[in-house]
Amino acid sequence: DNRVISGEVSSYDEKFELSLRPQLLAQYIGQDQVKDNLQIFIKAAKMREECLDHVLLYGPPGLGKTTLAAVIANEMAVNFRMTSGPAIERPGDLAAILSSLEPGDVLFIDEIHRLNRAIEEVLYPAMEDFCLDIVVGKGPSARSIRLDLPPFTLIGATTRAGALSAPLRDRFGVPLRLEYYDEASLTDIVIRSSALFEAEIEGSAAEEIARRSRGTPRIANRLLKRVRDYAQVRGDGRITIELTREALEMLRVDSHGLDNIDHKLILSMIERFKGGPVGLDTLAASIGEESTTIEDVYEPYLLQIGLIQRTPRGRMATEKAYRHFGKPILNE
Ligand code: ADP
Repeated sequence: DNRVISGEVSSYDEKFELSLRPQLLAQYIGQDQVKDNLQIFIKAAKMREECLDHVLLYGPPGLGKTTLAAVIANEMAVNFRMTSGPAIERPGDLAAILSSLEPGDVLFIDEIHRLNRAIEEVLYPAMEDFCLDIVVGKGPSARSIRLDLPPFTLIGATTRAGALSAPLRDRFGVPLRLEYYDEASLTDIVIRSSALFEAEIEGSAAEEIARRSRGTPRIANRLLKRVRDYAQVRGDGRITIELTREALEMLRVDSHGLDNIDHKLILSMIERFKGGPVGLDTLAASIGEESTTIEDVYEPYLLQIGLIQRTPRGRMATEKAYRHFGKPILNE
């Protein structure tokens, strides 16, 4: 989608994101708990000269799952091979990838919840015993042969840990959940990216961008890039707080990092459904969006910052939401 505040990757991002990716754990900002854990597992694996246990990274889009997977491969000094659930169409595709790995390699499968069941079944023996079960021949003469694979580390990434089948989930020794970033970490990310862009930025401008980035590095980098363009054209290239505010105003990203779709969603709850509770499907129909899009894309951050609430009877707008939109709270 084309939202400037979407956590999903767009073709706009792809061009510059690669250059912003940290290479080492020490350059990976925030997510301290995840990093502390990984540091130990990586060190232990290296001391034993074994490959790292399989890692499952889960959390909303744009929080740095792909980046972290590449950092892990780098720290382990092994190759980083990357594919995704939707890209693997047949069991044979996966078998081909697995049998081309070198010992210790990291195989990263993005959107791993989208692998179909037949392909998942290729993964089980590969993850557990580093082997492939291949059926040769057809009909009564068909038989299964076992091929050894080199030991490798599978890193799976998913935005929905709940969508993973239990047998697959259970085969990951190291499940790690990435959290939305706090403002201080995002500010550091913006400052680091500005330096890589060779753009001068005021501290307060970096904080302002951080505040409006929905806890998501991908959004912070994207907003930074837009603000930098604006500062180039409207100013002398220096990213000041004034130019930052103007640029973000023009992009229609409000003080909480909300855009018009978020506004539509919350205002619909307040104005049409008296603040809720309103069922997800009803809400989705009222603003012309898919329920799953609301659930996966719009809602997580709104829940996180406490503008909406999930109840057994549906979604509700919170007091904070009423205040954010300057709406009087009506008591029944
Ligand atoms: P995901 O795979 O979770 O969708 P990515 O790994 O593609 O997210 O991260 C998106 C962008 O955000 C990357 O290009 C990277 O520059 C930046 N980024 C993510 N996490 C961090 C971090 N911890 N420190 C610095 N930059 C980060």
